[in-house]
Amino acid sequence: MSNCVSILGSTGSIGRQSLEVIAACGMKVAALTANSNVKLLEEQARRFQPKLAVLMDDQAAADLKIRLADTCVQVAGGPEGLLAAASLPQADTVITAVVGMVGLRPTLTAIREGKRIGLANKETLVCAGSLVLEEARDYGAQIIPVDSEHSALFQCLEGNRDRGEVKRLILTCSGGPFYGKTAAELKEMTREDALQHPNWSMGAKITVDSATLMNKGLEVIEAMHLYHMPPEKISVIIHRESIIHSLVEYCDNAMIAQLGAPDMRLPIQYALTWPKRMPGPAKELDLWNCGPLTFGTPDLNTFHCLELALQAARTGGTAGAVLNGANEAAVAQFLAGEIGFLDIGERVDRAMAQIPVVQNPGLEDILAADRAAREAIG
Ligand code: NDP
Ligand code: MG
Repeated sequence: MSNCVSILGSTGSIGRQSLEVIAACGMKVAALTANSNVKLLEEQARRFQPKLAVLMDDQAAADLKIRLADTCVQVAGGPEGLLAAASLPQADTVITAVVGMVGLRPTLTAIREGKRIGLANKETLVCAGSLVLEEARDYGAQIIPVDSEHSALFQCLEGNRDRGEVKRLILTCSGGPFYGKTAAELKEMTREDALQHPNWSMGAKITVDSATLMNKGLEVIEAMHLYHMPPEKISVIIHRESIIHSLVEYCDNAMIAQLGAPDMRLPIQYALTWPKRMPGPAKELDLWNCGPLTFGTPDLNTFHCLELALQAARTGGTAGAVLNGANEAAVAQFLAGEIGFLDIGERVDRAMAQIPVVQNPGLEDILAADRAAREAIG
């Protein structure tokens, strides 16, 4: 159970909901960080009184320092500030809720300090899962997933002593805003269309990933690392209602599922309170009135990004870092209105075909693969 928490990315969707949970559960805050949102970070710092507040953007950090001059909150900027926040001794837990590969170094730093990691930043595991899990084992740091599907799997695996008894992990997928659309229809989809998710309200990057189904592909790789499962033992099932958050199928054909209202505050809270549970702000699931639950098969031809991610999962090595770096760069271009929706998958595909994969990579190989992928996207 966590007592004092640092949040990397506190102004984002996961960060803000983490603070709601922390307030409701009476936990303390050690450090808060953001990229450039001075106004919200100031508000959060005044309310939660952390030791340290960090903005990645140096100019924004200088502004925050002036704004918080009348408080005891220390202010820092840049990547060193982020690492300081990740390693602050007062915190027993670090929630990694920054978006993208920028989360890798601070996550490794927090692990080396033996902190519990509430891991939302899935890109870190997609790029460097083996390295991160190995370090967590070496330093005795617990990694508890915040991603709803992985939190569900974590809960469904509790009590399982022999991983050999697990037949497969089944990740549920809402299908995103473009479920059922043809490739011709997808070609016309705009930034605004992609940012409408039917069940979840999230940051822009993951919302686009949910529309391309890349998000589910990243989650397959995330699950592979978290639960030491080969990709052939992980399946994806379309479940439009987002009520069942994922399932484990055991060797005797029993399936264990975790259900709940689509509300990220539940998996966030469980990452903080595990192994205990306590009442919290997450919505109750009204099973009597939620309507039928439906299941289907994902369309890998139309949603090519999911197929690319499954390919990267099977290849291993730096393939995940290439997939992720190319996807981050292509999604940024799509959000800037520079490329079309289907161009995201095409560009990722091209980068993956171009960049050679290194097996058993060290940190430098991973960073190099990430750079090469971003350069290939242009
Ligand atoms: P948001 O875009 O809402 O928030 C991102 C946070 O990271 C903000 O605090 C932002 O600061 C900060 N940030 C952005 N870029 C940088 C940078 N270069 N350096 C340092 N900080 C940065 O994202 P989400 O909360 O939606 O997602 C966060 C992570 O959690 C992602 O990895 C996502 O895949 C994962 N996740 C999210 C879920 C959700 O429901 N939202 C569900 C499951 C996983 P600022 O506000 O100043 O820009
Ligand atoms: Mg998820």
